Amino acid sequence: MIEVQRVSMAYPNGVSALKNINVCIERGEFVFVVGESGAGKSTLIRLMCREFLPTSGSIRVQGRDITRLKRREVPLFRRNVGVVFQDFRLLNNRSVYDNVAFAMQVIGAPGREVRRRVPEALEVVGISHKAKMKPQELSGGEQQRVCLARAIVNQPTLIIADEPTGNLDPKTSTGIMDALKNINIRGTTIVMATHDKDIVDTMRQRVLVLSNGNIVRDEKRGVYCQHA
Ligand code: ADP
Ligand code: ADP
Repeated sequence: MIEVQRVSMAYPNGVSALKNINVCIERGEFVFVVGESGAGKSTLIRLMCREFLPTSGSIRVQGRDITRLKRREVPLFRRNVGVVFQDFRLLNNRSVYDNVAFAMQVIGAPGREVRRRVPEALEVVGISHKAKMKPQELSGGEQQRVCLARAIVNQPTLIIADEPTGNLDPKTSTGIMDALKNINIRGTTIVMATHDKDIVDTMRQRVLVLSNGNIVRDEKRGVYCQHA
């Protein structure tokens, strides 16, 4: 699904955020990317979404090297990847339903499909009962569920999430993780950056640990810290 080969990232100010890293993620995996603040998690996640290009190396997603996409090919690539952010990024003057429907409308999905798939996506993440509300009428956890619904509605094979529980309390976070696990069980690959130790230790999924731009640990059913 994802093959990161010899990827380095130096920002224009000279900061070396990733140093020649290699990672291979198989279809259907659930992968946590952890590490201290500044370790390079966000940089790796943003490279996988093709937000920017690495200084060197290649990133294959479903067989295509996304570092070689032409500018006009980037939107098509992004349609096949669901992205979830810490800060939600919802349209505040639109209903929950419309926020999710919008993700389908921008890619020209037929109305019939939209009316079928939006309620399904809302159901999967457990927010159907709030379909008519506006994001600002919802709690943080509910807003993040809407983001998850928006991320899955176009049925991507890959979901990339950067600290999706970063603004949520522990109980709410557990609900979001249950929803993500549900999505993963249906076959979607999930890559999630987090520094939430409790979540990582409870889920027992693959854990990639970054430190100072290097991958220092990669475990199949890992925990957040080995010696905590
Ligand atoms: P993490 O997500 O693990 O906190 P980041 O990937 O955000 O780590 O950052 C890795 C390193 O790159 C840090 O030293 C950070 O200060 C630096 N960095 C991140 N973004 C930028 C940027 N836009 N310009 C310059 N340096 C950056
Ligand atoms: P929590 O404490 O669980 O984070 P809130 O106290 O913000 O959540 O909200 C509890 C419930 O009230 C939620 O289901 C939310 O949809 C509803 N709610 C919150 N704010 C509003 C509002 N301004 N208008 C209508 N419903 C609201």
